[in-house]
Amino acid sequence: MTMLIASLCFALMVIVVHGACPQIITRSQWGARAPTGITYLSNQPVQYAFIHHATGNNCHDRASCQALVKSYQNYHMDTHGWADIGYSFIIGGDGSVFEGRGWDKVGAHTSGYNSVGLGFCLTGEFTSVLPPKAQLDAVHNLIACGVSLGKLKTAYTLRGHRDMGSTECPGTRLYQEIKTWPHY
Ligand SMILES: [Zn+2]
Repeated sequence: MTMLIASLCFALMVIVVHGACPQIITRSQWGARAPTGITYLSNQPVQYAFIHHATGNNCHDRASCQALVKSYQNYHMDTHGWADIGYSFIIGGDGSVFEGRGWDKVGAHTSGYNSVGLGFCLTGEFTSVLPPKAQLDAVHNLIACGVSLGKLKTAYTLRGHRDMGSTECPGTRLYQEIKTWPHY
């Protein structure tokens, strides 16, 4: 009987852990600026998950990753004149996940496809090196989370930014990697 209860508990634990979403650092937690405008996605779940790299330095702890995310938001709003940070989510080199525009808003990440997909940006530059395992694992978990929340179609399509436009993004090495992932 004890064995049975123990195995039932274990099975339940597996289900809960498997279905769980990664911890997401919310906009208020990272000190995001307020957007100057918001457009909500009109057709959820969306079809596409787009992978980006930010270029520049990667980060390896909460403080340095948060500083990068703030710098992207400032760059997108002040230099590009966009309403907010462009990406839906930003994934740090330590595996931390930051809320950008989030699951429900139209982003500014993949020109021509912003209303049919979500943009996942990895901090760092991946032309010739792969992201750290923690960062890759976090991307996988976040995409699975999007499916489980009904934000991404179960039969979603994974693409790199360069598939949809003229850019090197997400870097040749990371691009080679994502082409081996499910749904590419
Ligand atoms: Zn990109």
